[in-house]
Amino acid sequence: MILHSAFRNLIVGVQEKVPLSNGNSVTYINLDNAATTPPMHAVMDEIINFSPWYSSIHRGTGYKSLLSSDIYEEGRDIIKKFVNADEQKDVVIYTKNTTESINLLSYVLAEKDDKQVILASDMEHLANDLPWRDKFAIDYVTIDKYGMFSLEDLEMKLKHYNGRVKTVAVAGASNVTGYKNPIHQIARLSHQHGAKILVDGAQLAPHCPIDMKGHESPEHIDYLVFSAHKMYAPFGIGVLIGPQETFQKQEPFCKGGGAVELVSHQFIEWSLSPHKEEAGTPNVMGVVALTAAIKTLMSIGMNVIDQYEQELIHYTIHKLTSVPDLKLYCCAAKNEDRLGIISFDLPGLHHELLAKILSYEGGIAVRSGLFCAHPYVEKLLGLTPQKLAYYHQKPELPFPGLVRLSLGLYNNSNEIDLFIDLLSEIAQNKQ
Ligand code: PLP
Repeated sequence: MILHSAFRNLIVGVQEKVPLSNGNSVTYINLDNAATTPPMHAVMDEIINFSPWYSSIHRGTGYKSLLSSDIYEEGRDIIKKFVNADEQKDVVIYTKNTTESINLLSYVLAEKDDKQVILASDMEHLANDLPWRDKFAIDYVTIDKYGMFSLEDLEMKLKHYNGRVKTVAVAGASNVTGYKNPIHQIARLSHQHGAKILVDGAQLAPHCPIDMKGHESPEHIDYLVFSAHKMYAPFGIGVLIGPQETFQKQEPFCKGGGAVELVSHQFIEWSLSPHKEEAGTPNVMGVVALTAAIKTLMSIGMNVIDQYEQELIHYTIHKLTSVPDLKLYCCAAKNEDRLGIISFDLPGLHHELLAKILSYEGGIAVRSGLFCAHPYVEKLLGLTPQKLAYYHQKPELPFPGLVRLSLGLYNNSNEIDLFIDLLSEIAQNKQ
């Protein structure tokens, strides 16, 4: 079976050659899309086209400033449509990335002298774990025997905390195993127990439709965050989406011009959100890039993208199972709802070395290690607290980890075949 991506021509840099250790060069195969995706032509074109027009926004009266202000503000509506956010109640706050979005939300939700509970899960990226640790009592929904989010444990913990859980903070999909979490079921359960839900959409957003559902639905998503650099636009822009009322209660985390209506030495009148959270000169070009990417994704249709990626995922997993000795960490349950993020290892070969061989001998980019989801990978690897303590005391020892491949809408089965051929060769030669 050959799977051609109909979207390959949309992406910059898919023909680029890279040097190998033997002095030859090959076309780069990027199987590291969960870290960062290459940009779309439409995005780079929009940046170039807009370059003669951009200007500092909001208070300028020049034509370019007015134009830039409009584009910056209209971007919020495009983003809302993309995820079906509540048109009336939700605001889109521009941030630097997902990490900054969650840090901002944790600041906003923290109430003085009141350690409420945040329920994260064992499978979170550190961006959806560390920001909660100092301001809240944090607990983790466990994973089941397949490494998947346990709804039973969520329900047990929500009951146990008896109304004290403020927010359930959960990944839309894992950046290690690609498992998609049942976010609407999680939302329903959380709401039944008086908690809100934050979905870390960093991995979900580029690959399948997201529906925040509007605040009237019992399954609605209260807060959603994602980053542009994982969805075919450059670095430096992300979003935090949530109800405006959440952000009105606090003084802003970042204070300065743009966040205020009027200031004297005696008083400060803060602007309404989202402006209150966006002090300083904002990243207009980032918004231009992100909205260009979103428009392109929407014009293709997120369902269409998902459908193609699902075919490629099944193809890849099927091929991986033919590699001698290879251990997969993502496919234990049959027909799991998943993205094209697949972690594995070859026992007897250190993950970092394997990833380097793939790069130096095949021009194939993957990632190795703990993927900023240390507790999850540690659990998947079965590292006991004693073993972890041992490694902690001996930093000179190579730490265990996994190798991860992650697909984008432009990858194809030819790339997977080349990857599998080299991986099989490495597996055979290591014996
Ligand atoms: N959450 C998840 C699930 C991720 O995969 C990542 C990045 O890999 C992040 C959060 C952090 O994203 P960023 O580095 O863009 O802030």
